[in-house]
Amino acid sequence: MNPEKSKPDCIFCRIASGEIPAKILYKDDEVFAFPDINPLTPVHILVLPVKHIASLAEMKDNETPLVGKMVKVANRLAREQGIAKSGYRLTINSGADAGQLVPHLHIHLMGGRRLDWKH
Ligand code: AMP
Ligand code: ZN
Repeated sequence: MNPEKSKPDCIFCRIASGEIPAKILYKDDEVFAFPDINPLTPVHILVLPVKHIASLAEMKDNETPLVGKMVKVANRLAREQGIAKSGYRLTINSGADAGQLVPHLHIHLMGGRRLDWKH
């Protein structure tokens, strides 16, 4: 990552650095999480790598273990939010056709209501 290059352009890097405030629900050296500003479900949290990775498509093979760690953090947050038993969905949008709006890799953790497939 080139932090000087990516941080000024990327809203999620700015949140990671504390430059833009957000309610940080989890943070360590590699992964952080905060609520989605436009929640589609009662629980809607974004889980992200601290390192700027633009999308799944841009991930290097040696970065894939980071996704495992993001899933681990999402599972932990699901338990903390009380939706582990009722059920939840993890979604990663990659690229335009998937509707990715922010080009910094993130998992959507969504739950708290019944989700219809693809909606
Ligand atoms: P995606 O369409 O998969 O790129 O998802 C981007 C998500 O980021 C959307 O659900 C937005 O509501 C959310 N979002 C954008 N800006 C912020 C922000 N400043 N704080 C929290 N969530 C945000
Ligand atoms: Zn970024």
